[in-house]
Amino acid sequence: MFRSFRSKASKPVNSSPPPVVTELPSLPSTLTSPSAIAHLEYDPSNPPPIPGPNWTRFVCISDTHCHQFPVPNGDVLLHSGDLTATGRVEEFKVTMEWLYGLPHATKIIIGGNHDLPLHRGWYETHFQNWHWQGPEKYEPILKMIKGDKAKKANLVYLEDEKFEFRAKEGGRVWSVYGSPWSPWYGEWAFNYRRDTAEELVAKFPKTDILLTHGPPHGILDMTMGGEEAGCEALTARLPTLRPRLHLFGHIHEGHGAEIRSWPSTTTPSLPIPEPQTEPGSEAQPSTSAVPSEAPDEERTVFVNAANWPMGERMMIARSVGRSEFGGLGFRPIIVDLLDEV
Ligand SMILES: [Zn+2]
Repeated sequence: MFRSFRSKASKPVNSSPPPVVTELPSLPSTLTSPSAIAHLEYDPSNPPPIPGPNWTRFVCISDTHCHQFPVPNGDVLLHSGDLTATGRVEEFKVTMEWLYGLPHATKIIIGGNHDLPLHRGWYETHFQNWHWQGPEKYEPILKMIKGDKAKKANLVYLEDEKFEFRAKEGGRVWSVYGSPWSPWYGEWAFNYRRDTAEELVAKFPKTDILLTHGPPHGILDMTMGGEEAGCEALTARLPTLRPRLHLFGHIHEGHGAEIRSWPSTTTPSLPIPEPQTEPGSEAQPSTSAVPSEAPDEERTVFVNAANWPMGERMMIARSVGRSEFGGLGFRPIIVDLLDEV
């Protein structure tokens, strides 16, 4: 793809728009298992089709920080936090108006460490670090995330809570748990000390979908400094929770997806299994909806959906002339899940 794009780009300049690049050199665009398909790169004006009527399409975004970009349609939109830069009322307005206007029949969002006023109690004693002229008012923010407009837009804000919904009329019920917390990093909202993490994640119930702002340790959590910054206690909890989809963000440079299968026995101390397809491997992108692996294995699709271009992935996107927010390398990640497994 790299060469073919280069050859197209070297044509004489004319007024037509640049060609759409739908693959990132050397990184897989699509991951598949018998019960899940994750699309990382695609043509946003012509997204890949959903495999069939008994599949549900989840569109995953995160760390949008007031930016807007094309988001493909799907049954469910999931946002894993950092809706804003520092949680000012006018920043929430920008993000929420954008989210209200997206076409998905169900939208589920959480806050992140940047959405400061959402962390009640903490914000009242820490707002001066960002908002020198005084604290932002909570009521208008609450109204935007939980008021009539949110309800009309089928938007649900979760803060340490579980939610159940039908993505399609007459379809199955999905459960989701949302947690805005991430390990302590400077002094930000919803930060926890790592020695209290076990207590926090012990409260996470078993659900089909897990939304956390921060990643688990060792999965799509590598910082530009080479540190695996995710939460160890969350990783240790995952063999018990085994969600079908675990969405997070926070570490922007960790953007990507992995599908991992679980051993057949449930033992809390089991280590996290290795991914079936490592990002960066030579695995060929596949669009097949019927992979040949055993269909009865339990699997989790892990998604770091941060849309803010950063790190090595951004450098690869730049090598083909792209570095837009939510663009090549950092698109919304589409996850299709088979309804019943
Ligand atoms: Zn962020």
